[in-house]
Amino acid sequence: MIDTQPFWNPLLETLDREKLQQLQLRKFQRIFKWAYDHSRFHRALYDRAGITPADIRSQDDIHRVPTVEKSMMRDIQRKDPFPYGDALCVPLEEVTEFRQTSGTTGQPVYQPDTWQDWEWWAECWAYILWAQGYRPRDRVFIPFGYNIFVAFWAGHYGAEKIGCEVVPGGVLDTASRILKIQELKATAMMATPTYVLGMADAARNQLGIDPAILSIDKITCAGECGASISSTKYRMESAWGAKVYDHAGATEIGAWSYECQAQSGGLHVNEGMFLVEIQDVDTGKIITEPGRRGKMIITAFDRIAQPCVRFDSKDVIEWADYDCPCGRTYRLIKGGVLGRSDDITKVKGVLLSPSAIEEVVRGVQGLGNEYEVVVEKQGDTDRITLKVEFVPEAETRRTDIERELVDQLRLKTNLRYDLQFFSLGALPRYEVKARRFKDMRAKS
Ligand SMILES: [Zn+2]
Repeated sequence: MIDTQPFWNPLLETLDREKLQQLQLRKFQRIFKWAYDHSRFHRALYDRAGITPADIRSQDDIHRVPTVEKSMMRDIQRKDPFPYGDALCVPLEEVTEFRQTSGTTGQPVYQPDTWQDWEWWAECWAYILWAQGYRPRDRVFIPFGYNIFVAFWAGHYGAEKIGCEVVPGGVLDTASRILKIQELKATAMMATPTYVLGMADAARNQLGIDPAILSIDKITCAGECGASISSTKYRMESAWGAKVYDHAGATEIGAWSYECQAQSGGLHVNEGMFLVEIQDVDTGKIITEPGRRGKMIITAFDRIAQPCVRFDSKDVIEWADYDCPCGRTYRLIKGGVLGRSDDITKVKGVLLSPSAIEEVVRGVQGLGNEYEVVVEKQGDTDRITLKVEFVPEAETRRTDIERELVDQLRLKTNLRYDLQFFSLGALPRYEVKARRFKDMRAKS
């Protein structure tokens, strides 16, 4: 592979739309038939809807295939073939990898993969990393507690696949990880936005090291929306003196999208490996035009052990109305994943997306990186409390900062908040996925 080649797969990533759609149709037909033939769960679902592989002749036919939700997977698992149940499409002995979802929205879902699937995961990540400038000369540090969650496991293998040297940061504590990055002159790393910011704080406060002088020049984020939220991205890039790139993926789906070096404000969908459809939440119709938000229905074309066919991801996305200057023809989703349809909630009758609050908090100079939002019922109305931290040198500008925060919140979210201010370090810190949005209304 030539180092200067901008695309991991020059043929697929620049394929014209018509050919790409023909390829997607053929690949959908193949995975649909695979699931229909090999999974009792999928066969029953499609039989109930009266749809067979022979019925899939066009893109429109795809939209008629029933979607699969996470709750349906929960119902069939923990049964034979144990623990995966009836969606397993291969003999149990062909399964080589076990992972599970984090269970933030209920009982975890188990995810089996074969060795072929695992190579497929690495291939998905090779697109991401190559598009973000990773090359064989890079030394990639992965500060991640390798465990039952897929997180950066596949990023690790993707980096190896393209020829990088990979340093597994495993069970080291944060300070030891930073010192190892310094010692080895690592050039790239992968982490959640929360941890990227947390590491920068630890470098400065525990070790007296300015992270910007370390040799990291690019960081790939996952797990949270932060790297597509401009104010959070800016905080990370200025702290580390590095480019920060977003990507989106999920245990049940795969790594399906990536930001490229052009940083044009969106993520490319890897359309050679996935079919992304955006569904209007109210009408159920498929949205093909830019600028309208809906929830993502996604198919992974080549994953075989437990197929992902029209999976209802609950991720809220919209198509971008511009092409990316990088030259890829893969469509962009604007602003990355905008939230989850079950996170975007009505407060005082107004639709509120937690990422909008993050954008405001991280955009106000003088506030720390952490914040917490609590929504409670008070009589007949909702009450939203926003907890933020002052950085020590900003205490004297408290009134100005408070005013800016109130104005920006009203502008960006159309809501009023009860604000609570804390000193830096008082709010909880998270190592992996943060839980900053707490909706207590159902519990009260
Ligand atoms: Zn691009």
